[in-house]
Amino acid sequence: MASVELRNVTKVFDNKVTAVDQANLKIDDREFVVLVGPSGCGKSTVLRMIAGLEEVTSGEVYIDQKVVNDIPPKDRDIAMVFQNYALYPHMTVYENLSFGLRLRKYPKKEIKARVQEAAEILDIAVFLERKPKALSGGQRQRVALGRALVRKPNVFLFDEPLSNLDAKLRVQMRVEINRLHKQLQTTMIYVTHDQVEAMTMGSKIVVLNQGVIQQVDTPLELYNNPVNKFVAGFIGSPAMNFVEGVVSTDGAVTFQSDLFKIQVPESLTPKLEDLSGQHVVLGIRPENIRIVREGSDSRWGEPQSIVVDVVEPVGNEVFLYFSEQDKRYCMRMPPEQLYHPGDQLQITFDPEKLYFFDLHSDKRYA
Ligand code: ATP
Repeated sequence: MASVELRNVTKVFDNKVTAVDQANLKIDDREFVVLVGPSGCGKSTVLRMIAGLEEVTSGEVYIDQKVVNDIPPKDRDIAMVFQNYALYPHMTVYENLSFGLRLRKYPKKEIKARVQEAAEILDIAVFLERKPKALSGGQRQRVALGRALVRKPNVFLFDEPLSNLDAKLRVQMRVEINRLHKQLQTTMIYVTHDQVEAMTMGSKIVVLNQGVIQQVDTPLELYNNPVNKFVAGFIGSPAMNFVEGVVSTDGAVTFQSDLFKIQVPESLTPKLEDLSGQHVVLGIRPENIRIVREGSDSRWGEPQSIVVDVVEPVGNEVFLYFSEQDKRYCMRMPPEQLYHPGDQLQITFDPEKLYFFDLHSDKRYA
């Protein structure tokens, strides 16, 4: 069991790329934390610095409240599971699982007991005599997990371990890893670029962009209260819609874009009334756009007219897209009604679910 902490951790590679910039992060003992962000944002570098596979340029990495900057990987009591399972092809599953323990000269009896225990937890006991090539991708990934498990480490690190699996297996393994975490009660740090994976796995999610930690929060808080436009646009699928416009405080506080004009709801006006004349970005999630039927009351403000250009039925819901000024917007609808490209619709927005961001810094105003 161990906590992990980064204090002002920066990593600058020899090519002058700053992969991680002043990262501060506290991961409690037994916590399951997911690091998420687009390709190249520095997720793997954070993980590799915790594992000791990459040197820290400045700052400190703590494991169990001790600085480990100068401690080699093998002495950090950490196990890492990678995307490519890195199994030894010429060894059986048993030999693959026991390899690390044999290197560390564990007694044979202890090795056997640990391998058996891990194999049972992961449901791979029947494959122990097989070679990796005689296993499916999912089974190989379990063996890779098992190899970490037998070491009984204080911290598990996962670097995109499910990327090589097909969609169905990924969902299964996601559940397995969650179950494993509950069963083992060990600190786990999990890296993925897939925000859906992040939302379903971590109790705490760290969103990274360009080497900088943007927000650390629960999945729901990230979704409902993103601190900036990057997090708002990254978390959620389909992504939040963004529209540029100008704030006006002539009388009521309004937001005017090329597409439409809306009155800013009273709850948000204190945060926007000082921005008169400024360009800002309005964010609205696809599920917070509503179709106004003829004759129904549009208590959500003046309806806007749009023409649907793409219809994407996904079974339990349907995504409708419309375009204005070369930008495409998405709304999410229940599947009961049939929609077609070319349909003209009247839409409004839920005034309680509007987000406003600074045009340049991406910072959230409201
Ligand atoms: P991905 O999801 O694509 O794996 P990531 O978020 O894990 O990306 P990192 O692998 O941590 O990103 O890389 C962060 C940045 O550091 C990138 O710009 C990358 O090109 C750079 N980088 C990574 N490793 C090295 C290295 N050994 N030398 C130089 N630059 C590197």
